[in-house]
Amino acid sequence: MKLHEYQAKQVFADAGIPTPDSQLADDVAGVVAAAEEIGYPVAVKAQVQVGGRGKAGGIKLADGEDEAREAAESILGMDLKGYYVDQVLVEEAVDFVNELYVGITMDRGEGKPVAMVSTKGGVNIEEVAEEDPNAIAREHIDPSFGMLPYQARRAVYDAGVEQSVARDVSSILTTLYQLWDDKDGADAEINPLMVTSGDEVVAADAVMNIDEDALFRQPELAEMEAEAAGGDELERMADEYDFDYVRLDGNVGIIGNGAGLVMTTLDLVDYYGGQPANFLDVGGGAKAARISNALDMVFSDDNVDSVVFNIFGGITRGDEVARGINEALEQFDEIPKPVVVRLAGTNWEEGMEILNEDLVTVEQTLEDAVQRAVAYAGEVNDQ
Ligand code: GDP
Ligand code: MN
Repeated sequence: MKLHEYQAKQVFADAGIPTPDSQLADDVAGVVAAAEEIGYPVAVKAQVQVGGRGKAGGIKLADGEDEAREAAESILGMDLKGYYVDQVLVEEAVDFVNELYVGITMDRGEGKPVAMVSTKGGVNIEEVAEEDPNAIAREHIDPSFGMLPYQARRAVYDAGVEQSVARDVSSILTTLYQLWDDKDGADAEINPLMVTSGDEVVAADAVMNIDEDALFRQPELAEMEAEAAGGDELERMADEYDFDYVRLDGNVGIIGNGAGLVMTTLDLVDYYGGQPANFLDVGGGAKAARISNALDMVFSDDNVDSVVFNIFGGITRGDEVARGINEALEQFDEIPKPVVVRLAGTNWEEGMEILNEDLVTVEQTLEDAVQRAVAYAGEVNDQ
């Protein structure tokens, strides 16, 4: 689970890491009001969970009301690498002379967390790692001792960080490790960690990914996740229904049981000239209620023009699935989008008999089901 920049910054700031003064805004007037309060110049930053926002046009500096308005208008509502931007962070712009990188992650090869420091911050660290691996200093940490002070100092020294800020950078690195440990982090990263002409060190960006399986003991972070998902109605629904769900940009809704089967369905939709609208895995042993929740989700997606249901019965029983589909569809006077069903495996014959063919199209094979759904979606497009 990934926190938004503004949330990660909050977590970092609470632990004592210096961050710029900032406010969240979701409309142009809000951006201007925040900027006035913070004082110009400000940075206006798209709050979406992808890196490289700067290059993609999701970060703009503004030195006055007109520029703030312009920045807000261009960033709010934009499509940033497939993510809709509905919130920006308005932040005191940092006048920096250097951009550093500090990060903590798990080194699976070593079976230990590793702290990394580089003076080549501000750019994608994976690129630095590839082009100039020596530009990143690494220090492995024994989790039973935590990061020892000499380790933090050594990483900072090895990276070639200037003497004048070395102490502050070491202290930030130590705090970052403690946070990573306390909060069940998967990755914690500050890129760039900006150094000002006055030798101040400020976290200008913040990344914090949490181990999903530990969220039960991180209630504050779980709440942040709910808040983050709150921006996207479909993500919120997927959370509530407990589905593995990924939104894609096509118009054929896909529901299946088992990740492999859903992936195969996605590939087939693509193969037959369609475009998948989503990945939705209802899981094993899906009961009628789950099936009906899954349909509720894809029907709620405005991009979906047709739905293909691909169920292979193992623990999941075809008759149970068929009942779920009927129940979900019987609620409607008019079916919102055409649904094509293919059932195989346990009790598929019973399932086929139960399915109400006034409500759904039943196909015997997966190929036929996918082609039919692609055709339905195409008809909608042609209208
Ligand atoms: P990312 O591209 O999504 O990782 O977003 P970052 O927050 O790391 O910002 C990318 C780049 O934008 C930084 O490396 C800076 O060069 C620039 N930037 C971001 N915030 C500021 C700021 O407050 N002042 C200045 N001058 N540049 C900024
Ligand atoms: Mn960054």
